[in-house]
Amino acid sequence: MGNPLQDQCTAIELASSGQVIEISNKISYFDGLSSIIEADLTALSPDKMPAGWRDRDVHGELQFGFAGIEARVPMVTGSATVIVDAVCQRCLELMQLEIQIEPKLLLLSSEQSVDGYDEFEVWELAETELRPQDIVEELLIMALPLSAMHNKTADCKALSSSVDDEGREELVRPFATLRSQMIQNEKDPI
Ligand SMILES: [Zn+2]
Repeated sequence: MGNPLQDQCTAIELASSGQVIEISNKISYFDGLSSIIEADLTALSPDKMPAGWRDRDVHGELQFGFAGIEARVPMVTGSATVIVDAVCQRCLELMQLEIQIEPKLLLLSSEQSVDGYDEFEVWELAETELRPQDIVEELLIMALPLSAMHNKTADCKALSSSVDDEGREELVRPFATLRSQMIQNEKDPI
């Protein structure tokens, strides 16, 4: 019953049933992801806050099964995509990021280890039961860039508009900004 993305199951149960789980949920469904995006967006002035950022769709699919013929190691593969609203760290304007994950994971408990599955990453299970939603959410969070920035110069206000070379330097080097302010203050004593 309920939502297979939320149900607690053991990796063996999911793998033996060959569970395929469709992901089609709003960002708001993922609490941890939502709060990280929200914290980032607070850098925007309230009038620039995008209204529907929580309603954007996370969509994709997870497939559970076993890796290898003999070892029968539970695994999950699949993909998920979401468009995330973020603040460009260069111009501090709103931007959209496409976040895509393609998990290829062996589901192992901490005391298990296997050799010969180099194309997989190991997902260490803290408990016997897992919630597929948690895997998706954690992978999406890990896929968020440490520092979001417009890719195209034309999109980024800090690079495209009337910013001269000196201004550009200041934006990527905060200490340079501080230093030039100090020099400025020395020039115009209050
Ligand atoms: Zn920008």
